[in-house]
Amino acid sequence: RDYISAIPEESDMYFNTSTIKLKVPAGEEFKGSVLLKNLYLSCDPYTRGVKQSDSATTKQDRIVFFSPDSPIVGYGVSKVVDSQHPEFKAGDLVWGITKWEEYTLITNMESFFKINHTDVPLSYYTGLLGMPGMTAYAGFYEVCNPKKGEYVYISSAFGAVGQIVGQFAKLMGCYVVGSAGSQEKVDKLKNKFGFDEAFNYKEEPDLNAALKRYFPEGIDIYFENVGGKMLDAVLLNMRLHGRIAVCGMISQYNYEQHEGITNLMHLIYKRIRMEGFFVFDFYHLYPKFLDLVVPYIKEGKITYVEDIVEGLENGPASLVRLFSGRNAGKGVVAVARE
Ligand code: NDP
Repeated sequence: RDYISAIPEESDMYFNTSTIKLKVPAGEEFKGSVLLKNLYLSCDPYTRGVKQSDSATTKQDRIVFFSPDSPIVGYGVSKVVDSQHPEFKAGDLVWGITKWEEYTLITNMESFFKINHTDVPLSYYTGLLGMPGMTAYAGFYEVCNPKKGEYVYISSAFGAVGQIVGQFAKLMGCYVVGSAGSQEKVDKLKNKFGFDEAFNYKEEPDLNAALKRYFPEGIDIYFENVGGKMLDAVLLNMRLHGRIAVCGMISQYNYEQHEGITNLMHLIYKRIRMEGFFVFDFYHLYPKFLDLVVPYIKEGKITYVEDIVEGLENGPASLVRLFSGRNAGKGVVAVARE
């Protein structure tokens, strides 16, 4: 199967048992290496695989997340078991790019952050306090340049990134509307995360009409997660000098023939700024992000919904659920609890 353009299926993955010695091997080539016990693995849309040509301009261009007969690569929360790295010692908790295994030998710790706040759920470092949280933070505050009172729209709003963006926007005093693919998600957007309005995009035959209903005066900020027909309808409803942060386009990942956009000229008519961004370019802001978000969590101002499955063997099913929207919140695989 062409795993790059097809919708991922559970049968694209298999579970393998092999053994690993629970020590970093001796030798010059393993200097700086760390052996990790993986606790929580993150299910993210990128896990399905990125064409190497598509990732050529990112700092992650050498990482292949999903390739035949290799463990899946992805973000996770792990515990250091053994280390030949001066900055990491046995017992340290870290998050970064690991593999879908019980234990992983990492030879380059560049992608890892040490976890210092342990009085919050550790699984949050795959989501709210990890890469998706940083994506929400960078995309909303750095790319959208939001102001109090602005009209904000978020697609895939119940997802790992979307639920955080919505709460940031509410804390800033914006009017916030989100869309998601089920009534249950729509209800939670309003009742749990405090969105002003939410709608099920699957039940809207005319997306343009739906957006006009929720934004009679237009949209100032669109946080783009899905692309395709949704983006086209949003362009018609943007206000003058609006901003679109292009975070992702999940509706387009599984197709060879992408859906066309016909309303791009609205970028000009309305002087809209549309900017793509990659979270990897913003990791230097991680300490600033923690200073903002950890107190919000402790004060109960930000909440987070996770969809946790137990056991590595249930990882493939959990990953596949992302592409049909059957995940109810941030997808996480719990491999071990400590
Ligand atoms: P989500 O947790 O939102 O999971 C994916 C969700 O997308 C599903 O639950 C489903 O929800 C929705 N979805 C799936 N297929 C479609 C479709 N065809 N049309 C519309 N919605 C669909 O993922 P994340 O929050 O982790 O990621 C959100 C976006 O951000 C993705 O596009 C991702 O690639 C991107 N991203 C970009 C980063 C960057 O650095 N730029 C970093 C991290 C993520 P529903 O029930 O609503 O349909």
